[in-house]
Amino acid sequence: MKNEIIERFTSYVKVDTQSNEESETCPSTPGQWTLLHMLVDELKAIGMEEVTIDENGYVMATLPSNTEKEVPTIGFLAHVDTATDFTGTNVNPQIVEDYDGNDIVLNDSLHIVLSPQDFPNLANYKGHTLITTDGTTLLGADNKAGITEIMTAMAYLIKHPEIKHGKVRVAFTPDEEIGRGPQKFDVTAFNAKYAYTVDGGPIGELEYESFNAAGAKITIKGNNIHPGSAKGKMVNSVKIAMELQSKLPVEEAPEYTEGYEGFYHLLSLNGDVELTKMNYIIRDHDKEKFNAKKANLEQIVNELKVKYGEKNIILEMNDQYYNMKDKIEPEMHIVDIAYEAMKSLDIEPIISPIRGGTDGSQLSYMGLPTPNIFTGGENFHGKYEFTSVDNMIKATNVIIEITKLFEEKAEA
Ligand SMILES: [Zn+2]
Repeated sequence: MKNEIIERFTSYVKVDTQSNEESETCPSTPGQWTLLHMLVDELKAIGMEEVTIDENGYVMATLPSNTEKEVPTIGFLAHVDTATDFTGTNVNPQIVEDYDGNDIVLNDSLHIVLSPQDFPNLANYKGHTLITTDGTTLLGADNKAGITEIMTAMAYLIKHPEIKHGKVRVAFTPDEEIGRGPQKFDVTAFNAKYAYTVDGGPIGELEYESFNAAGAKITIKGNNIHPGSAKGKMVNSVKIAMELQSKLPVEEAPEYTEGYEGFYHLLSLNGDVELTKMNYIIRDHDKEKFNAKKANLEQIVNELKVKYGEKNIILEMNDQYYNMKDKIEPEMHIVDIAYEAMKSLDIEPIISPIRGGTDGSQLSYMGLPTPNIFTGGENFHGKYEFTSVDNMIKATNVIIEITKLFEEKAEA
């Protein structure tokens, strides 16, 4: 399996699939089409069925059931695009066999070194086969490690029909990094009961909780008068904005919170006496606390409206995504199965809440409960990104094990 994984992964990362926020097409960049078409050919070559690519570039395929049992259809998803933070042009993967725990020189002439002094986690990889960058690009393990693992698991299951499983669907999707991943995803066509994104980091990661998220824009109108004759007439919109911020709980801000603690985050404040605009995001894992935060902001705005005039303060608040936990918890067995799969492979599951969102946060609310599992990569989105081939083999085995467990637990 090792060589198969290295071969697949290196062929995928050589395709530049960086997404582009400025683009209005889907996929946002032509490189993504190149890889998506490569994946279509490969899915057919390994013997997958119902291989399709739609007009937005979403690739889907089926591994048919090989059991008499009635097993729910499960899906595995990974995204083809790479982050916009760092270049993905001319990725030149370097293979480090039997890593000795010391510095890895990524680029001799540019003096770029991947060092355990900066990245103490490297200690976990002694003896592993690692794949790194050459120091000039990102690697794209996010999420091409996930694609490699899903493809390799499917190829393995096709070659090993003695392993019984239900129907498995796979999807490779564009534009996750620019937040558009699930928007054009055809959940009906995918037609799975549950799915997993294979888009996490280090070994053991298993995530099913994300934030609830809202954005709030506040526009405050003032009244600018010559300061010499302003008494009783001037209304300073910047000061109203400061008054608004001062009414929010000081410690419910990103710089004071962690774990399950939510926050109000003032992203920007721009204004003068006449007109001020404030931009907030509101985040909380707990739906009640999330709603209470939104209600509190509304209440504060209403108080200011009474004080300064109904028309002078405008609040526009919109929900952005929700905690996938609320959709996954009623189907908790899908997390339990991933947990059990890891345990049976001697992997210690690490369950922690995401302080952000994933494709699963949106997919879970589109009717497809979708937790996230690890890929084995680290330091995503930059030149120090690397992946462990040993842990990619383990992620592949977790996918295989999950399909097995769904079959074993199904009624005969
Ligand atoms: Zn990703």
